[in-house]
Amino acid sequence: MATIGGVVANNACGMSAGTIRNSYRLLSSVTFVLPSGTIVNTALPDAEARLWKAEPQLCRDLLDLKERIEADEQLVAQIDAKYKLKNTNGYRLDAFLDGATPVEILRGLVVGFQGTLGFIADATPTREPPPACWRGSRWSRPLPRSPASS
Ligand SMILES: Cc1cc2nc3c(=O)[nH]c(=O)nc-3n(C[C@H](O)[C@H](O)[C@H](O)COP(=O)(O)OP(=O)(O)OC[C@H]3O[C@@H](n4cnc5c(N)ncnc54)[C@H](O)[C@@H]3O)c2cc1C
Repeated sequence: MATIGGVVANNACGMSAGTIRNSYRLLSSVTFVLPSGTIVNTALPDAEARLWKAEPQLCRDLLDLKERIEADEQLVAQIDAKYKLKNTNGYRLDAFLDGATPVEILRGLVVGFQGTLGFIADATPTREPPPACWRGSRWSRPLPRSPASS
């Protein structure tokens, strides 16, 4: 029997919804535990402040990686191309493009991370299906953001 944690950690999506109705797109919020023991609940309004307090170096490193990826136009184009198709290989590098903050980046990275960065303790799917106009472009399919970023 599949578990919610396993589905999210695998970025599972069923037979025919590889790029649209997958775990990455349909995850509203997630609670996960980092190897250090830090618990991140992306639904909390102060999730960013909590993470910065508990894991300042991790936050800096995530934003540094984001900056380096975004500075490389070729890499950004390659990442975009990779996720226009079903892609469950390795970490979701598009999390660095979709996420603006450390919590948002981590929220994207836990989808498909196979448990390598922590343990998923809770996951809440979005209630609304993605709009029909979504056609595979990262730009037309915004990542569901945690309340912390709104
Ligand atoms: C016959 C078959 C058909 C399938 N068909 C499809 C399909 O059509 N489409 C599709 O998308 N997928 C498909 N899958 C894959 C399936 O979606 C996943 O195997 C399943 O969702 C994983 O759930 P699980 O609970 O069994 O996870 P497990 O297999 O137990 O674990 C999967 C990974 O997630 C990690 N993990 C598990 N729980 C957690 C947690 N709480 N926190 C962090 N990491 C965790 C594990 O370490 C492991 O790396 C298929 C699998 C099988 C066996």
